[in-house]
Amino acid sequence: MLYQSTRSTHTVNSLQAILEGIAPDGGLYLPVSLKDLRVDVADLADKSFEEMAAIILRTLFDEFTEEEMAEMVHRAYGGKFETEDVTPTVKVGEDYVLELFRGPTSAFKDVALSMLPVLITEAKKKQGITEKILILTATSGDTGKAALEGFHDVEGTGIIVFYPNGGVSAVQKAQMVTQEGNNVTVCAIDGNFDDAQTGVKKTFAACADMDLKKHGVMLSSANSINIGRLAPQIVYYYKSYCDLVAAGEIAMGDAINFVVPTGNFGDILAGYFAKCLGLPVNKLVCASNQNDVLTEFLTTGRYDRRRTFHRTNSPSMDILVSSNLERMLYLASGCDHEKIAGYMKDLNEIGEYTVDGELFAALSETFAAGCCDQEQTLAAIRDTYEGYGYLCDTHTAVAVDVAKSFKETNPAGKTVILSTASPYKFPVSVLSAIGETPDEDEFRVMEQLNERTNVPVPAGLAGLKEKKVLHTDVIAKDAILDYVLKKVEE
Ligand SMILES: *Cc1c(COP(=O)(O)O)cnc(C)c1O
Repeated sequence: MLYQSTRSTHTVNSLQAILEGIAPDGGLYLPVSLKDLRVDVADLADKSFEEMAAIILRTLFDEFTEEEMAEMVHRAYGGKFETEDVTPTVKVGEDYVLELFRGPTSAFKDVALSMLPVLITEAKKKQGITEKILILTATSGDTGKAALEGFHDVEGTGIIVFYPNGGVSAVQKAQMVTQEGNNVTVCAIDGNFDDAQTGVKKTFAACADMDLKKHGVMLSSANSINIGRLAPQIVYYYKSYCDLVAAGEIAMGDAINFVVPTGNFGDILAGYFAKCLGLPVNKLVCASNQNDVLTEFLTTGRYDRRRTFHRTNSPSMDILVSSNLERMLYLASGCDHEKIAGYMKDLNEIGEYTVDGELFAALSETFAAGCCDQEQTLAAIRDTYEGYGYLCDTHTAVAVDVAKSFKETNPAGKTVILSTASPYKFPVSVLSAIGETPDEDEFRVMEQLNERTNVPVPAGLAGLKEKKVLHTDVIAKDAILDYVLKKVEE
């Protein structure tokens, strides 16, 4: 299957798209024929998570055979999640929570990052590539650990993770800096997530003009700019839908809403792909924290990144430049790559763009948006816990709050809230939200939360404190390229 850049007519096959991560023109890859692809949810109703994943992923990456994909999916997910159905949906009040955090690092990124290393290694074999694939990743906290978990000790690959110094929680930091493996590097940068992401993107662009092959290395990305990272996320939209049908909560064919805590626009974009493939979706609701650039964009059509960056209690959503919005705009504009290249140029050079009326109307058909501040986030945790005995993390809480206002004006259809992290990843905020005073030591706070709520601590987080710190590098935000080149030469 052919994939095309969002910024030009540059095309590659799906294997190359997975291996390269980002197109040489800075655009993002999408299947040329997405509008012709179909996955009928009725055909998936009685399938397991793994069977659904194999069918959906093969629809997008048809260079793999059915047998190959079934084996790859099993290798990625078999026995690695707390529950066999990988992403369970539970009823909370009158809504549903799609739990995406039951994987090895307790964040939703595990769903995609369990699959990506398998896709990369198999794509590499099929393409006859002998170079080592070096994964560069910018993280706001959760991608880094999930990518390290997915790629550590995977033969023929290496991984470097950049995270904002002081911009991640103590638990998130501990998860990353204690990572073992003979092919992993973790480095802090003096800057925020956008600086890390921009530095990594610039490194890709600079390295595209250099001959890294002479060092036996090819760069790729584990961020959601990589289509191999996004595609596995489509699966849980289908899975959740089928779970609601199986539980008798909806009838096959009913359109439902999904409320998605959003940062880089990857998770919600996968929902848009699901809708393009035929899943009955009414609205996709983009939930943001105080960094409300997407709320403004989706309600006015104007994207303006020139605003104050807020560090919030939902740090994985502290983002002002959401990469995957570009893919949504491309699709909603009817694949007008010139228009998209123009908007992205304005975003880079001026810091803003406004989409035309036609495009705005197209995206308003599917997307709604809302945001909430840190106090409202904590209130949503408290209300959900006190009202329904359900403990959610801060990111999920943003979606809970936004879902409430969304439903006031859009009463049609059932609503599924995507839950993107375990409450134990952000224990300080969660514990204070339910009225307790957290200890200074974040690891002790996990125990406090457990004592108070009896919700079990995920296996990957218990015992983190005793693990040895293995990574201590800190660099300036504009030193990412040099750092990478030095690692390549080693
Ligand atoms: C990454 C992340 C998000 C944001 O997802 P995007 O795909 O970047 O929009 C939300 N919540 C948590 C906990 C995350 O780790």
